Amino acid sequence: MSDHLSRRDLLAAMGVSGLAALGSTANADDVVPAGGLARITSKSPPRAPAKLVGGKIIQPERELALLHETDVLVVGAGPAGVAAALAASQTGAKVTLVERYGHFGGLWTGGLVVLVVGMYVKDESGKRKQVTRGMGEFMMARCDKLAGGIVNHRAGSDPTVDAEALKYAMVELVEEAKVKVFLHCWGVDAIVDGHTVKGAVFESKSGRQAILAKVVVDASGDGDIYAAAGAGYEHIKFRTGLVHRIGNVPDVKGKRPGGSGGVTPVKGVRWVNMQGPAIDGLDVAELTRLELAHRRYIWKSVGKLRSQPGHENVYLLETAPQLGVRITRLLGGVTQLTFKGVQNRVTFPDVIGVGGMWNAVHPEWQIPYGALIPKQVDGVIAAGRCISGEPRMADLLRVIPPCFVTGHAAGVAAALAVKDGCRPRDVEVPTIQKILKDQDAYLG
Ligand SMILES: Cc1cc2nc3c(=O)[nH]c(=O)nc-3n(C[C@H](O)[C@H](O)[C@H](O)COP(=O)(O)OP(=O)(O)OC[C@H]3O[C@@H](n4cnc5c(N)ncnc54)[C@H](O)[C@@H]3O)c2cc1C
Repeated sequence: MSDHLSRRDLLAAMGVSGLAALGSTANADDVVPAGGLARITSKSPPRAPAKLVGGKIIQPERELALLHETDVLVVGAGPAGVAAALAASQTGAKVTLVERYGHFGGLWTGGLVVLVVGMYVKDESGKRKQVTRGMGEFMMARCDKLAGGIVNHRAGSDPTVDAEALKYAMVELVEEAKVKVFLHCWGVDAIVDGHTVKGAVFESKSGRQAILAKVVVDASGDGDIYAAAGAGYEHIKFRTGLVHRIGNVPDVKGKRPGGSGGVTPVKGVRWVNMQGPAIDGLDVAELTRLELAHRRYIWKSVGKLRSQPGHENVYLLETAPQLGVRITRLLGGVTQLTFKGVQNRVTFPDVIGVGGMWNAVHPEWQIPYGALIPKQVDGVIAAGRCISGEPRMADLLRVIPPCFVTGHAAGVAAALAVKDGCRPRDVEVPTIQKILKDQDAYLG
């Protein structure tokens, strides 16, 4: 019997009776039947392939298709990017959020970094005090409403989220905020006019396309857009691991089966953190080598765990789809966060929020707006783990709560820059601070 289905057979299989169902003017090949097959007749985008010229690979100059225009373009949908998009929208801007993967949350979900540390510090009386509120708390609260969304969410303890619940909660929030979203879209270049960023170039299955924006928030974690625009930054190697989850663990809270990590909202499932060696997270060959090495290591270590009495049924449930790159670029910002400053409890007139330390015995530390603003380039604001801080600050500024805080502030500031028609560095700081407080942020 032939495998070939005629068009009539196809329509019959779909329950459509004959050509009439397509309408009298429709070209049958242009109709996309629900769940069926259809030939796409749209024109392919113009191609200008790279050329081999005298042994060199040359990319010809070409005009790019305009995918979209927006007020605020947020690149990267991790904790910082989603917070920025929600905040910019709440502050009245038209917002577009672009993400290279198919889900929201960044390392928080795709990296299986499910434990949120640093939302609390100890106050003078030794009591734990919540220092991260605003957009981060808003996202956490939505996740908490979902069955199994969060465990350990008693006041004062570090909560653990369920990555899938969180991905879903963020879909609800982003859609409610009417943020325009493009997923599967990788930011590969900045669009600049002089020293001012005017948008970004994206690569996707649709080819290379541009989005124009009045202000860009770089929440890519790696500062991909500000670096492409020519902003200064420090490039460092850092510990890079591959977080995973193991199932059927009899003593999830017990003596660290499988390595450091902890409970998850799913019964019998433990998440396992991994430190890993320091590598350059911007070097594709190193990323590849480490990804393969980590997979070998994890498979063996779960096998070893299974050989322990009582753990025979433990299995590797999932490795994070996203390699755990902790830090790559740190912005050369107007103000650089320093470890000494944190120790000396330095304060800033342009404070936009505070961070906590994850061991909760240190005081809160202030984050200035200047740490989000590049020294030389305009039109772009950094948010999340790629803001301006000395390398010694990396372990403090990269945890999820400060990323919420800088994302929230970047979103508010970007929307205000659009409203006032000014550069992000010229937005009035008291207005940013007032709106942040109105949006329930804690500024210390
Ligand atoms: C192994 C590991 C363990 C950790 N443990 C903890 C912990 O226990 N507790 C804690 O609070 N924090 C922890 N962290 C830190 C924390 O997870 C991250 O620092 C935090 O998620 C950073 O948030 P972000 O939004 O700045 O960046 P990310 O979470 O990295 O999000 C960036 C987003 O941008 C997207 N993106 C990147 N480049 C592009 C591009 N060019 N174009 C389009 N999209 C792009 C990414 O896909 C991603 O969605 C850990 C991190 C790692 C790696």
